[in-house]
Amino acid sequence: MIRTVEQYIESLSDERQIYCLGERVRDVATHPLLGNVIRSASMDYFFPNDPKYRDLFVAKNEDGDDVNALFISPKTPEDLLKRRNIFLTTWRTGGGTQLHCMGIDALEASRIVADRMDGRLGTHYVERVEAYRKHLQKGDLGITGAMTDVKGDRSLRPSKQETHKDYYIRVVDRQKEGIVVRGAKMHISSTPGANEVIVMPCRAHGEEDKDYAVVFATALNAQGITIIASEPPMRERDDAAFWDYPLSAASGHGSSECLIVFEDVFVPWDRVFLCGEWEFSRDVTYAFATLHRLFGVCRMTTELEMLAGVASLVAEYNGIEKFAHIRDKLAWLAMYAEAVNVIGKASCLDCEKQKGSDIVSPNMVHTNTAKYLFADNYHQAVKMAHDICGGIADTIPTYGDWTNPATRPLLEKYLGGKAGVPTEYRLRAVRLLKDLTNTHSQVGSIHGEGSLAAQRMFVYAGADWGKFKAAAKRAARIPGWEKDPIYGSLPNYPSCISSKMKPLEKGYKL
Ligand SMILES: Cc1cc2nc3c(=O)[nH]c(=O)nc-3n(C[C@H](O)[C@H](O)[C@H](O)COP(=O)(O)OP(=O)(O)OC[C@H]3O[C@@H](n4cnc5c(N)ncnc54)[C@H](O)[C@@H]3O)c2cc1C
Repeated sequence: MIRTVEQYIESLSDERQIYCLGERVRDVATHPLLGNVIRSASMDYFFPNDPKYRDLFVAKNEDGDDVNALFISPKTPEDLLKRRNIFLTTWRTGGGTQLHCMGIDALEASRIVADRMDGRLGTHYVERVEAYRKHLQKGDLGITGAMTDVKGDRSLRPSKQETHKDYYIRVVDRQKEGIVVRGAKMHISSTPGANEVIVMPCRAHGEEDKDYAVVFATALNAQGITIIASEPPMRERDDAAFWDYPLSAASGHGSSECLIVFEDVFVPWDRVFLCGEWEFSRDVTYAFATLHRLFGVCRMTTELEMLAGVASLVAEYNGIEKFAHIRDKLAWLAMYAEAVNVIGKASCLDCEKQKGSDIVSPNMVHTNTAKYLFADNYHQAVKMAHDICGGIADTIPTYGDWTNPATRPLLEKYLGGKAGVPTEYRLRAVRLLKDLTNTHSQVGSIHGEGSLAAQRMFVYAGADWGKFKAAAKRAARIPGWEKDPIYGSLPNYPSCISSKMKPLEKGYKL
C-alpha cells in the first residue's frame, strides 16, 4: 500500500504520550513546533504519490503489491544506489525527512541477524521479521530505529550499573504471550513523525548482560511509552521563525530527536526479533551501523552542498569572491563536499554481502571513512564559512528588525553588500548560514550516526591490512607479499632495464 500524505498525518493522532517544552502534546500533527517535523516527514509520502518520482520511491513486493521501495531489502549495488538516490532527493528538499531511514536499516539489520541466528541456533526469527516487514508494507508505516541507550556510567557494562539497572533497555519479564521491557533510548530521530520503532542494543554483550540483548518492534503509542522531544531551535512557528531560522523552521531540523522511555512495555513474541542471544548483539549493532551510514553520508552530502553554496553566496554578496584566500577556502569546502559524496557512492558500488544473508550493505570501510571525514572536518568547515561571512554570522539582526518600519530603512542602507545584490538576499543568506552552523548541526555532525571513535573502530576492524602490509613488504623486499591478490600479481621491472644499467662506481654520489 502507498498512503497519501493526508492518510499518513491522520495516523499520527494515536494518543501517544509525547511531551515538548514541558507540556503534553495532544496532537503531534498540529503542534506548532513538532508539526514541522511532520511537514518534513510528509515528504516520504509525497514523493511516492508524485508520478515524476514514483518509479524511484515505489517498488513491487513479492506479492506484486506496490510498496515503499525502502521496505525491500537491498540485494545489489544498484539497489543501494537507488536507496542513495531516494535519500539524496528527500534531503535536497531542504533539511529533508528522516522518516524510514533509521527504521528500515533496523529492519534489515534484524533480518541479517535473524538469518544468522536461525542458521546457527535453529530459531525462527526470519519468519517474524518478514511478517513484520509485511505489516510495514501493508500499512505503509513510518518507522524509526532506536539504538542509543541512555547508558549511565559509560565505563560500566549494563548489568554492572550502580544507581539502577535500567540505563540500557532490558527484558524484565518473559511471559507466555510476550516480553516486558524497561529502559530508555535517547536522541532518537524522527520519533514525533513515526508510527512505530524498532529497538536494538547499542553495544556488544557478555552472558551476564543477556537480559539486555533484545531487539523488538512496537507502536509508539503502546502503553508504558513516554516520549520527550528535544528542544526545538525556535519557540514560535511564524514568519519570524522562517526568516530567522529558514532551515529549522521549514523542516523541524533539530526538534525531531526524542528521549523514549519504556516503563514496563509489553511486546508480543511476534514482534521480538532477538531475546537473550547475547552473542548476536554485536552483529545487530554492526549490521545496523553499516547500513545506516549510507543514509548518514547522503544527509551529510546535501548539508555540505548547502554549506559550500551558502559560503560562496555570502562571499559573492560581500564582494570578496575573487580574493585568493577566499577562493582557497571555497575550494576546500567544495573538495570536502565532493569527497564525502564520492566515497559514499563508492560504498554502494563496492558493497558487501552480509555473512549468512543475501542482503548487501555499503562497503564498511568506505562508508565509515566518509562519515569520519565529514564529522572530523565539520568544525573546520564551519570555521571557514564563518570566516568568509564575517561577524554578521553571529550578530545579524532579526526578522523583527527587518519588518519594523523604524529600522528597515537603516538595515536596507547599512547592511547592503555588493551593488546590485538586494540587502534582503544578503541577510537571507547569512540567516541560513547561522542556522546551518548552529549547535545542533555541530553536535549532530560529530555524534549523529555514531561518535568518531565508532567509525575508527569500524575502519580499523575492516581495513585491508593484508593489502597495506603487502605494499610495504614488496617495497621493503620483505617476503610475504607474493600471495596478495593485488600486490602479489603485479609485475617487477623488466630485467632488460636493470641489466643495461651500469653498476654504480665507487664514490659516486646519488
Ligand atoms: C542529532 C542526533 C541524532 C541522532 N539520532 C539517533 C537515532 O535516530 N537513533 C539512535 O539510536 N541514536 C541516534 N543518535 C545517537 C548517536 O548515535 C549518539 O549520540 C552517539 O552514538 C554517541 O553516543 P552518546 O551521545 O550517548 O555519547 P557517549 O556515548 O556518552 O559518547 C561521548 C564520548 O564518550 C566516549 N565513550 C563513551 N563510552 C565509552 C567507552 N565505554 N569507552 C571509551 N569511550 C567511551 C565516546 O567515544 C565519545 O567520545 C543521534 C545523535 C544525534 C546528536
